[in-house]
Amino acid sequence: MISALSKGAKGRREEARSDAIQLARGIIAEWPSKHYWAGERVQETPGAHIKFTEQLLKLRDRDTIAAFLSQVAMRDQWLDLSSLIKQACLEFGWDAFSAELVQLIRGGVGEDGEEDNRLLHLLLPRDAAWLFVFASEAGSDSARELLTRKLLAMTIQDLCQSSQQSEWGDVRRHRFGATLIPDQATLSLLLKSLVAVGDEDGQSQVTQFLQQNPEDFPVADCQVPVLESLIPWSKKRDGSVSPPLRSWLASTHDYLKAEVARKPVPPADWVRSYPSRFTCDCQFCREVRAFLDDPEAEAISIKSNENVRRHVSMNMYDYKVDIDGSLDRSSRPYTLLLTKTNASYDRLVKTHELNQDLMKRVAGLK
Ligand SMILES: [Zn+2]
Repeated sequence: MISALSKGAKGRREEARSDAIQLARGIIAEWPSKHYWAGERVQETPGAHIKFTEQLLKLRDRDTIAAFLSQVAMRDQWLDLSSLIKQACLEFGWDAFSAELVQLIRGGVGEDGEEDNRLLHLLLPRDAAWLFVFASEAGSDSARELLTRKLLAMTIQDLCQSSQQSEWGDVRRHRFGATLIPDQATLSLLLKSLVAVGDEDGQSQVTQFLQQNPEDFPVADCQVPVLESLIPWSKKRDGSVSPPLRSWLASTHDYLKAEVARKPVPPADWVRSYPSRFTCDCQFCREVRAFLDDPEAEAISIKSNENVRRHVSMNMYDYKVDIDGSLDRSSRPYTLLLTKTNASYDRLVKTHELNQDLMKRVAGLK
């Protein structure tokens, strides 16, 4: 249908274009919902969808593209928008879709009037991707620069509002765990965008926020990988690293150095700790606590029915105490054998080794 737009008499061409626009609007109205959850592997966007966005550009109709951005893009959070947004802005002007782009960053209200999960302030990978395209576009264009800065400022505000100090952050954490926290690739694109527009205040805000929330943005799995993506890129691009990123690099190195200086000490006896919330007052749990407090005892056995064995085993698991359990089935009722381990110390040793490795990697970035 689109190919008919460039052929035939003018009247026929316009008719074909109007039909194509109507069809496109119909497809947009029926587009299925697909929500993004952090941690999911990036899905391949089906070829037909990419084809549709290509055809959409050929229609050269601003309103249909705007409808696509405000309806489909909100509904289908996996959709790659970088190329469409860039091409559409090149054709209609960098500020031609500012309302729709603001809506993409801010999230919206779903069709049923319920808050869309974008209201939970998650920066989607695909939004970070087109923001980066905006930020790194060569040449100066005041409309683009203004809009880019505005969108980046909104992104930072939303990100920092998701902090655990906020009530909203608590609600989100409770309901969704860590699933709505932007991943390291997305954060790295956000910071690259801030470097590209030279926004050092924004860089400081984001890097400080990450450092203040290591539970959400762990040093090993998030901050160091982001630095590893960002610092070499920044050096290559500008020949130097901005002061906020340098300071983040330095404090990450200091933090790891302090961690590495604290060498784990192996347990001196068989006393094993347990959390203060392990308060069950049944005979068996009291017995287990006495066993954990005993510096000499390495193992005990609990001969009892299945319910008790399960209760004790569940507690050992829930409270993550350094105990291995096994079942002796040689006589009835079976016997639960509890043996103390060095699991906590072994974990500390592993973490220590990991921190040593991280420290080397971070030092290599300096
Ligand atoms: Zn108990």
